[in-house]
Amino acid sequence: MADLFIDGEWTGTAAGGRREVINPFDGSVIRSVDEADATDADRAVRAARHAFDSADWAYTPTRRRADILYRVHELLLRDTEEIARTETQDTGKTLTEARTDVADVAAAFRYFAEIADKDAGRVVDAGPDVLSRVVHEPVGVCVLIAPWNYPLLQASWKVAPALAAGNTFVLKPSEITPLSTIMMVRLIEEAGAPRGVANLVLGSGATVGAALTAHPEADLVSFTGGLATGRAIMASAASGVRTTALELGGKNPNVIFADADFDAAVDHTLEASFLHQGQVCSAGSRLLVQDSLHDRFVTALAARADRIRLGDGRDPDTESGPLSSAEHRAKVEAYIELGRSEGARLVTGGHRPDDPGLSRGFFLLPTVFADCDRTMRIVQEEVFGPVVTVERFRTEDEAVALANDTRYGLAAAVWTGDASRAQRVANRLRHGTVWINDFHPYLPQAEWGGFGQSGVGRELGPTGLREYQETKHIYQNLRPAPSGWFKG
Ligand code: NAD
Repeated sequence: MADLFIDGEWTGTAAGGRREVINPFDGSVIRSVDEADATDADRAVRAARHAFDSADWAYTPTRRRADILYRVHELLLRDTEEIARTETQDTGKTLTEARTDVADVAAAFRYFAEIADKDAGRVVDAGPDVLSRVVHEPVGVCVLIAPWNYPLLQASWKVAPALAAGNTFVLKPSEITPLSTIMMVRLIEEAGAPRGVANLVLGSGATVGAALTAHPEADLVSFTGGLATGRAIMASAASGVRTTALELGGKNPNVIFADADFDAAVDHTLEASFLHQGQVCSAGSRLLVQDSLHDRFVTALAARADRIRLGDGRDPDTESGPLSSAEHRAKVEAYIELGRSEGARLVTGGHRPDDPGLSRGFFLLPTVFADCDRTMRIVQEEVFGPVVTVERFRTEDEAVALANDTRYGLAAAVWTGDASRAQRVANRLRHGTVWINDFHPYLPQAEWGGFGQSGVGRELGPTGLREYQETKHIYQNLRPAPSGWFKG
């Protein structure tokens, strides 16, 4: 079965390229998929351009577009188990997490269906002889590029608002984890999206991704992925002055004051650090603990980290799976070596598990480094693996300064029993999301995105729809007459 979806047809690639998709639990081949090239990318963008310019979709009443989104929501719920199993095989994450992801994807479609027609613009008062309206229109052809850690979820935060706003799109998932995205595009087709509105190409970032983001017929690029790729995409979009939305990495501070609820803080810190093997853009990978609590907290955290059950995501006893690929594990291992050489103290982990049952997968033990300081690269750079660094602080001011001492600014958390301090610190943190006495929850109704080099723009919430809209001012003179500006 062909894996690219271009102009309403499932199709193979022009040059016949294929790529094997690997299960990171044991290195086996799940299946091979079509591997597109720049020619296929061009075909897909032209199909999206044609569908947009024919204007049917853009001018379809918003309610009718929303109905398609509601239908996708229903179909996702119908197929949850099948999609979740595929996501688990492809990413290595546990089935429980994959099921949660699919539920969150469905919720994103429902949310954007709900808000699609809630803001038709506004009328501006310019006197009785003028009708002045500000309206929102689709941007046009959207190139949507997604990463491998939350393949379906990150794609849905782009696809759902793009469709709700009346755009057409070309979606490219990560070449490492394309399978659930193929399933989602099949559901969008089943829900009744017209020909050419939704297009899917698979392939590497360097060829297909670069061809899409630099394509002169694209109006908008929305990208989620690493900082270096984001920079390259922003540079390539500059030539066409294309709107560019970027959701990039993070090095997210998790700040624990001594008066925090100890058990809750340790438990959530474990999740903040090691959920999905730390391959989470908002992972709490930079732990800051108040001096008087530090030793007790680190001891408790390391003891819990040692008990995390690694294994096959499909096994209900598994609490965490492997890393996404052999290459990515090698990168994380290099960071662990760097941490050691920089003088961080390895409290636990730092190597592959001894269990022979895990030897074919891309596993690493949950790793805690203490005695870290702000000058270390392991503290400043995104490792994107099961590695947490711990620093000490004494005062509230010092905690805020350390938490803001990053080029990123995606998310942060503060743990304290003092409600006033919680608000004071949250107000001063320069991060796009701040959790108080919690870690990781997000809501489709609330904006998600980064300060600093964590990105440009916001997904989710009303702003997440606005990203896919142009704003137009329509001014009508209701009493036309000569203006008399020039006298001759
Ligand atoms: P990546 O940058 O390597 O790849 C992301 C996507 O970009 C893939 O589809 C890839 O094929 C494509 N790509 C690569 N080079 C390209 C190029 N030159 N032109 C166009 N496309 C290109 O990122 P990744 O390793 O897949 O994902 C991990 C990163 O994503 C981490 O840094 C993580 O923090 C970030 N992330 C951010 C968020 C967020 O919401 N801010 C969410 C998830 C992941």
